[in-house]
Amino acid sequence: MALEKYRAKRNFKESPEPAGDAKVVAERARAAKGAKPRFFCVQKHLASHLHYDFRLEHNGVLLSWAVPKGPSLDPSTKRLAMMVEDHPIEYGTFEGVIPSGYGAGIVMLWDRGTWTPEVDDVEAALKKGDLKFTLDGYKLKGSWVLVRTKGKWAGGGDRSWLLIKHRDDWAGEVDITDFAPLSVKSKGDFADILAEANPDIWISHRPAQGGEAGALFEKIIQRALEMRGEPKDEPKGSMGSMGSGGSKGSRGTRSVGSKGSAKSSKGSVSGKR
Ligand code: MN
Repeated sequence: MALEKYRAKRNFKESPEPAGDAKVVAERARAAKGAKPRFFCVQKHLASHLHYDFRLEHNGVLLSWAVPKGPSLDPSTKRLAMMVEDHPIEYGTFEGVIPSGYGAGIVMLWDRGTWTPEVDDVEAALKKGDLKFTLDGYKLKGSWVLVRTKGKWAGGGDRSWLLIKHRDDWAGEVDITDFAPLSVKSKGDFADILAEANPDIWISHRPAQGGEAGALFEKIIQRALEMRGEPKDEPKGSMGSMGSGGSKGSRGTRSVGSKGSAKSSKGSVSGKR
């Protein structure tokens, strides 16, 4: 039941995303009773807009929030988090390319680990709109809170929350999205994930689809290239301040070079800017 919305939005013949198994939902829901650590992950998602999908395991599914600017370790920086449909547990390790349809773009497993509620009753906390919890991931650790904003953000309805770091040893001023931009699964950046999933895209310099979907994907490919080691004095375009790190230096350019024709594609992207 919890995954109906998730499934309705997707065509699993076209998308590599998992459909979610009802048995897994039931098993995990049973196993997760009580306050022991549960799975959490953050997926960095380069779609029409870059965002970070923050997911907490609860009742056999992943409660999910889309965080446009990503998490901040600075307790004074509150990050808008739009609650979205529950995702299957199996989604939590997904990384790859969604070639078309809902969420088309590149998904990177940006952080993963466990979360522990700091309250006895998660259901009640969600209903109240104030969920305190501890994270133990590779990048995100310590105490956090998700607070619902009661329609403070235009158009958000009751889906808009704020993700806020509590003051503790794991808080700090470092911009974690910039400092640690890469995958915890493959160690790669978006361009690496794209190359891994579909080398043809690199060889042909353009996606297989034409029309609007093709144009969107072309933009996403360009963005993936821009996000790795572009000269720092270049304008960051619509990226604003977020996620512009990419992988700088020799590591970032190595795999582009090894893709042959992709290198000239990178050149032409930089040339236009
Ligand atoms: Mn997303």
